Amino acid sequence: MAHAVKELFPAVKLAIGPATEEGFYYDFDIDRPFTPEDLSLIENKMKELIKKDNPFTKKSMPRKDAIELFKKIGEDYKAEILSEIADAEVSVYEEGAFIDLCRGPHVPSTGVIKAFKLLSIAGAYWRGNEKNKMLQRIYGTAFNKEKDLKDYLVFLEEVKKRDHRKLGKELDLFSISEDIGPGLILWHPNGAIIRKTIEDFWRDEHYKAGYNLLYSPHIAKLNLWQKSGHLDFYRENMYSPMEIEGIEYELKPMNCPFHINIYKSSLRSYRELPIRYAELGTVYRYERSGVLHGLLRVRGFTQDDAHIFCREDQIESEILNILDFTLFILKTFGFESYDVYLSTRPEKYVGTLENWESSTNALKQALEKKGLSYQVDPGEGVFYGPKIDIKIKDSLNRSWQCSTIQVDFNNTERFDVTYRGSDGKVHRTIMIHRALMGSLERFFGILIEHYAGAFPLWLAPVHIGILTIAERHSDYALQIAGALKLNGIRIEANLENEKIGYKIREATIRKVPYLVIIGDKELAENKLTVRKRNGENMGPFTIDELIEIIKAQIGSRQ
Ligand code: ZN
Repeated sequence: MAHAVKELFPAVKLAIGPATEEGFYYDFDIDRPFTPEDLSLIENKMKELIKKDNPFTKKSMPRKDAIELFKKIGEDYKAEILSEIADAEVSVYEEGAFIDLCRGPHVPSTGVIKAFKLLSIAGAYWRGNEKNKMLQRIYGTAFNKEKDLKDYLVFLEEVKKRDHRKLGKELDLFSISEDIGPGLILWHPNGAIIRKTIEDFWRDEHYKAGYNLLYSPHIAKLNLWQKSGHLDFYRENMYSPMEIEGIEYELKPMNCPFHINIYKSSLRSYRELPIRYAELGTVYRYERSGVLHGLLRVRGFTQDDAHIFCREDQIESEILNILDFTLFILKTFGFESYDVYLSTRPEKYVGTLENWESSTNALKQALEKKGLSYQVDPGEGVFYGPKIDIKIKDSLNRSWQCSTIQVDFNNTERFDVTYRGSDGKVHRTIMIHRALMGSLERFFGILIEHYAGAFPLWLAPVHIGILTIAERHSDYALQIAGALKLNGIRIEANLENEKIGYKIREATIRKVPYLVIIGDKELAENKLTVRKRNGENMGPFTIDELIEIIKAQIGSRQ
């Protein structure tokens, strides 16, 4: 692609062009943005180059020679990259009249490339820094077979249709406003009722699972974050402090120190443990505006956080509990397939070797008892302890990192978290951090895409839409609406003087799960037919039958 761009736009300078999980991109320094027409020109030129079957030839040379070479042909970005790497010897690849700095490897020749497509254009700052020049990026992808490429393009169409930012607007779920600020989410009524439903479920199930729920403030003294180590390890993700009566305070990036404070508010005995604290805790983290993305990457979000304080001999059973609980919660939202990772001790760590060994073993034991297959990521644990990460697969088979379970030897040390043992001595408490959904914002974004906006009944903002055919049906419709509402069913009655076809279309666009249409027949027979989102009909039911059916379905979270 870079060769084709160079031939068509000789003044272009090449920046970087890596392979990615989904394909590749290249950043070009050019005086105007690329257009869709440019992309087809470039694709045609690429096809010509493929036809020529030019070999890719690797050449090694001393770094300073390579700098000279790229300076001479005006590729300043390449010279800049070279001037900053340590290697004495570097490699370039040649293909026809084209030369590029590259470690390789490459396919042997252009003819090997069977199926490719240029996908999109975007602006990108050199080195991702908004102070640098804006470059023009072209994204593309390539496959071994034309069929695989076609399947991938169909998949991309589906991804586009499900984009939570698009559906968020269409279904009036949430917005992000320039006036409020980037990365800060406004939950509209339709989104808020879904969030409330998720939160109610989450809270109820936590009480059932033996957790206590907490609330904690959004700010705390800067000193607290000094003590917790966040100022040393996490400063670039925190906002500037604010001053209150001469003392500096900071927006919280994490909930942990608050929970520790509550744990430490009295002396704990071995008999009290485990203590499980959970909070839907809102935190604020500094993310560069360039990486913000709808609900998936934001600056203010609510973690479904919990901290478990336990004895060392309780780690395994607690992890087992958490795993059961996590899978139950995820299954409720239709996620039944997971990738599980166990991350072990990195080179830089706190805590003792014995701590690490026994807790890593406890995590392993729990995973094995649960019969979960997992992958070990050696050395990928956080410096403060080993962890389990669970990635869920959505309806398009995409992976999302949501749940994490982490043992922490750092905070318990820094805050001197202890309990009195059966031996009468003071022992260090074990602390486990855990989030199931990750954050409500991100999880909501994933749910919107997973369900393509067609939420199951229990989550849907409106359970039943009531549509009248003519004005004379209004009183009966309101009577039905009242009865449903009394039973906690979320309804919306459309009594407008519009054609029924129009009313059905409008409710279908908003993906309302059930519609009850009220006309002369319903009025005469006192029975209701329910139209499902997919157009199928259920019924007829009496109003009491309908209430029972809907309540049962909501109750079993379908
Ligand atoms: Zn924590």
